[in-house]
Amino acid sequence: MILEIKKYGDPVLRKKAETVKVFDAELKKLCNDMLETMYEAGGMGLAANQIGISKSVIVLDASTKDSTIVMALANPEVSGSSKEKEEFEEGCLSFPGITEKISRPKEIKVKAFDPDGNELLIEASGLLAIILQHEIDHINGVIFTDRMSPVRRMLHNKELKELKKNMENKINENSLFRHTLLCRGPAKVADCLRAYSGGRCIPARQAQRQVNGKIPDSGKGSGACRRHPGPSA
Ligand SMILES: [Zn+2]
Repeated sequence: MILEIKKYGDPVLRKKAETVKVFDAELKKLCNDMLETMYEAGGMGLAANQIGISKSVIVLDASTKDSTIVMALANPEVSGSSKEKEEFEEGCLSFPGITEKISRPKEIKVKAFDPDGNELLIEASGLLAIILQHEIDHINGVIFTDRMSPVRRMLHNKELKELKKNMENKINENSLFRHTLLCRGPAKVADCLRAYSGGRCIPARQAQRQVNGKIPDSGKGSGACRRHPGPSA
């Protein structure tokens, strides 16, 4: 199953993923779905929080013309790294259109588990080391712009702002959509859009302005909706 890839600006990308404790069919299905999603998007690696699931799971394909390297790993962590570093032009499926040279340790050791729960120790260099470090960063809430030098990050400022704005608008639209499902009161959706402002009813016009990003959400709104007083659903 192809899943939606979360883009820069989605808070899930900043959350440290939870440790996998159960190695079952559900985990295997997640790994398969992630691989399918990664291939569909043309990526070489994907972390579970990139598809909105805050679990310590990554998949990758570091195959070259000489060898096939496809991995699905749970709870991966870097247990050792070389002092020598290497620069590589990286991209990220959560940052479409942005690539930048990132410097990372050339060789690393990674402890992880396969989807059956078997412990692995991986010694990696080259492309595999780069992808592993990029994806392990993701499950720790670290994104590849954090690894850019400040000067290089500034070069992407405009693109980053655009991506963030698009994602925030999308999150807000979803929030309004959820509200329309939750709201069972007599008012029309146009009269009351309460999910947006901290779970309280706010007038539709104000909610719409917030969605369009014209005014920041202060969290205060302008009071509860007369038709839906009290705590929201
Ligand atoms: Zn990435």
